[in-house]
Amino acid sequence: MKTLKIFSAIVLISLVFSACSQTQKQTNMENLQVNKSEEEWKKQLTPEQFEVLRLKGTERAFTGKFESKWDSGIYVCAACGNELFNSNSKFDAGCGWPSFYEALDKSKVIEKKDISHGMVRIEIMCAKCGGHLGHVFDDGPKPTGLRYCINSVSLDFKKKDSTIVIKK
Ligand code: FE
Repeated sequence: MKTLKIFSAIVLISLVFSACSQTQKQTNMENLQVNKSEEEWKKQLTPEQFEVLRLKGTERAFTGKFESKWDSGIYVCAACGNELFNSNSKFDAGCGWPSFYEALDKSKVIEKKDISHGMVRIEIMCAKCGGHLGHVFDDGPKPTGLRYCINSVSLDFKKKDSTIVIKK
């Protein structure tokens, strides 16, 4: 009887937590700063960008333009310009996609459980426009142990400002 009570309590607590996290995710998606119709996105984005950012597609491994780029700068969302990743956190994961061990700021991305393709993964989306970026895995390097595996096509790159020389 006691075991049953404890079991019931655990189930109840799990349900409450689950409901709370669902509400949080929905709130995040509703409060997007950039909220466009799919038709508007189709006009703005290239077919490849639309396929990945809006339809949650994946570019083929080792084909993206940022997979082996190592310049200093900031990676931004290709759809809305939201600053997402610093080149400092980029590392060679050998997986065929640009990989980062952390986002520029946790608030820049939305995480969502993804059970598509027979796998359980954590999807990463842009917190400003909701565009699909990739997934995050827990097999990354220190200091976070995370690997944000991101499609190049979802990103743009802003090179770090070079030193400004003022002519007198
Ligand atoms: Fe975005």
